[in-house]
Amino acid sequence: MTDRRNRKFSTVSDENLFCLLDRRFAANHGRIAIRSAAGDVTLAYGELQSAAARYANALTILGVEPGDRVTVQVEKSSANVALYLAVMKAGAVYQPLNPAYTDAEVDYFVADAAPRVIVCDPARQPAMRGLADRHGVTAVVNLDGCGEGSLATLAARMDERHETVARAVDDLAGLLYTSGTTGRSKGAMITHGNLASNAATLVDLWRITGRDVLLHALPIFHVHGLYVALNTAFLAGAEIIWCDRFDAARLIAALPQSTLMMGVPIFYTRLLTAPEFTRDTCRNMRLFISGSAPLLADTHRDFEARTGHAIIERYGMTETGMIASNPYDGARVPGSVGMALPGVSVRIAGGGSGTIEVKGPNVFKGYWRMPEKTLQDFTADGYFITGDLGTIDTHGRIRIVGRAKDLIISGGFNVYPKEVEEAIDALPNVVESAIVGVPHPDFGEGVVAAVTAKGPLPSEAEMIAELSRKLARFKLPKRIHVVDELPRNAMGKVQKAELRRRYADTFAPKP
Ligand code: AMP
Repeated sequence: MTDRRNRKFSTVSDENLFCLLDRRFAANHGRIAIRSAAGDVTLAYGELQSAAARYANALTILGVEPGDRVTVQVEKSSANVALYLAVMKAGAVYQPLNPAYTDAEVDYFVADAAPRVIVCDPARQPAMRGLADRHGVTAVVNLDGCGEGSLATLAARMDERHETVARAVDDLAGLLYTSGTTGRSKGAMITHGNLASNAATLVDLWRITGRDVLLHALPIFHVHGLYVALNTAFLAGAEIIWCDRFDAARLIAALPQSTLMMGVPIFYTRLLTAPEFTRDTCRNMRLFISGSAPLLADTHRDFEARTGHAIIERYGMTETGMIASNPYDGARVPGSVGMALPGVSVRIAGGGSGTIEVKGPNVFKGYWRMPEKTLQDFTADGYFITGDLGTIDTHGRIRIVGRAKDLIISGGFNVYPKEVEEAIDALPNVVESAIVGVPHPDFGEGVVAAVTAKGPLPSEAEMIAELSRKLARFKLPKRIHVVDELPRNAMGKVQKAELRRRYADTFAPKP
């Protein structure tokens, strides 16, 4: 009798990342997992564990089976964390989407991922229902930024016992969309093994323990805030202070209670603009980590001068998780993303300066339903071709010198030129367009467009307003320049470097 009960309700010891985390949740049962910076929500590890089980049961009731995709486009909330865990627990595949994506953008992701269930914000429910009908999605449920909604109501009625679905190391845990210059967004298939190995390595490297308090202000639809921050904190049994978005004043208020922060460079540049951000604000801090976009060497130095802390810069991408990090002990060199993580092999194609290639247990399984693209992006000996250009010195220190692809990173978000250019080209009287990222004091890079016209164009503001109907805000060009022709090389390719030079001062502060 006891045996049967145990079999039914205990978790299966296997390669499902949830099993690993579940053991940590049980060990830290009464300790705080997440508390909101505002102080209105506190979730103990035991409560998070039960919430994950209830959400997993709710997903099962909605028809989710192992291997099914669950598309999630919601505001950041602790209920969203329980949902993330529940999808893994149910053996399904988590597909998070930026809430800023428009219905037209979500349509593509849903058509491609073919999920069983969509979880959206209540305000988006009618639009998502139509979209779900078109793509044969079984159910659409909702969850808002306070963790309320039809899914939360269903989960609240569920049993808190749920048997974790057994998964193999190579089974999918997540499907995160990324894109190249070809325009079509690609689903990166991320396995339980990828996540477990990367999280364990980072906990070790950054010395994260149950004594840490992680200040979490990143979005959780992207690897950085989702996998790097949450999985490491959970694995270590750390406490998380939860901010739904970056707000300098709120971060400055929460930093004295924190020991650890993971951020994108814009967090650091914005904190530095606040005079009240001081060494004293950081008195309990142990470690600041930066990634997802280049941290300017000046920011690194200014930050150290102000706070006494040298930021650890690390490098990674959706397809690979984390690849490299500056060391915990030893020099954290401004302008370098550090050394390859233990167990991860990094090399430069052709030696010297060239494309960064990476191999290891962190590297994804391939692009969802794109076997040819997957084949193209791996070398014959199994290295993933990142598309970033870099160098490695004799100490193994990696520097990123550019991007083979013309990806723009604005305010920490990736903007893929092709998609924006296609939207601009569709405007009346536009012949063609090219967009580039140029230095922006706040966003790191700001999007600037050059267009050629065959007749009168609407005003710049009208064109931007029209584009905002199709594109998320962070992708919109801030300036649109009308030119006679786009600069091209002998092969007819638009010379983006020339455009970047031309518009380099667009956002420079006026003297
Ligand atoms: P994503 O897949 O959204 O995480 O974007 C990955 C890309 O972000 C990489 O291929 C790099 O181009 C860039 N990236 C990530 N971390 C860094 C860093 N520390 N320095 C420079 N670029 C970075």
